[in-house]
Amino acid sequence: AAKDAGRGVYRFYADAMHNQASERKAIEDALRDALARDELALLYQPIVDVGTERISGFEALIRWRREPEGVISPSKFIPIAEESNLIIPIGEWIIRTACATIARLGPGYRVAVNVSPRQFANEKLPTTIMSAVSAAGIQPDQLELEITEGVFLDESPENLAMFQKLKRTGVRLALDDFGTGYSALGYLKKAPFDKIKIDQSFVLGAADPNSMNAAIISSIVGLATALDMETTAEGVETHDDLALIRGLGCSHVQGYIYGKPMELGEVLVLLGEGGGRVEAKGYKSAREP
Ligand code: C2E
Ligand code: MG
Ligand code: MG
Ligand code: MG
Repeated sequence: AAKDAGRGVYRFYADAMHNQASERKAIEDALRDALARDELALLYQPIVDVGTERISGFEALIRWRREPEGVISPSKFIPIAEESNLIIPIGEWIIRTACATIARLGPGYRVAVNVSPRQFANEKLPTTIMSAVSAAGIQPDQLELEITEGVFLDESPENLAMFQKLKRTGVRLALDDFGTGYSALGYLKKAPFDKIKIDQSFVLGAADPNSMNAAIISSIVGLATALDMETTAEGVETHDDLALIRGLGCSHVQGYIYGKPMELGEVLVLLGEGGGRVEAKGYKSAREP
């Protein structure tokens, strides 16, 4: 009987795996048409200078709107876009759209885009960027590329050369989700980053006196400052978080306390009304530390 039960369990996992594989395939097929069907959109979340409460720029965050499913989150489809190489055309669309947005915002604002490992490994990336920047008529340092520690898995000469090529295009480079990956500290000084983004997992509950997070954030800020890099704390939701982050010396903040990811139209209204300044609005966090 135990053997039968074991077989039943195997059956169950085999079916689940099969369903997962076919769901993946279905997503990949639909994603192939998403660009042509105009189903992809970028939302923009404010990044705020801690000292002045001025908006320094926005992070572009992709959404996929599809009927009848509704909005599909990037954590669901970006990995599939990566594996299927669809990230290359989608990534190019993201870069062009972000540059067009920068032109709409005008001088004085930056937009950051997320660059995934496959995109980073694509030798055409610098050319794509230079052509998008010049088509939009913007300054290259208005565009920032967010790169996660995932790319450090491969400390190849090609990788280091890509950092240098990107730097030479004049765009800014930010190290995203810092602290969640391999944190190759030696690499940090070889790669020319302008900014470190402190992952939201360290920000969450950092104001709790029993948490180690404040000490971790403080040491990341110290490291960044020594290397002449800015720091953005991600996922700041509450006034307590903000007070702590400010006290620890982060230069920038991004989080629901200043605004959720929003449509370009809303961004233009926000900038028009506040003249580039925003106020911290208490947000009732739904997260558990
Ligand atoms: P990320 O680059 O670390 O982006 C920050 C994520 O944190 C975003 O989730 C944002 O909406 C969320 N967030 C910001 N502030 C708060 C807050 O105060 N509270 C909470 N609970 N969350 C906050 P989102 O938009 O779902 O994106 C998730 C991830 O998907 C991104 O993480 C990024 O890795 C990836 N992604 C998003 N857009 C793109 C894209 O255009 N290209 C690529 N390659 N990846 C993307
Ligand atoms: Mg990011
Ligand atoms: Mg991040
Ligand atoms: Mg993150």
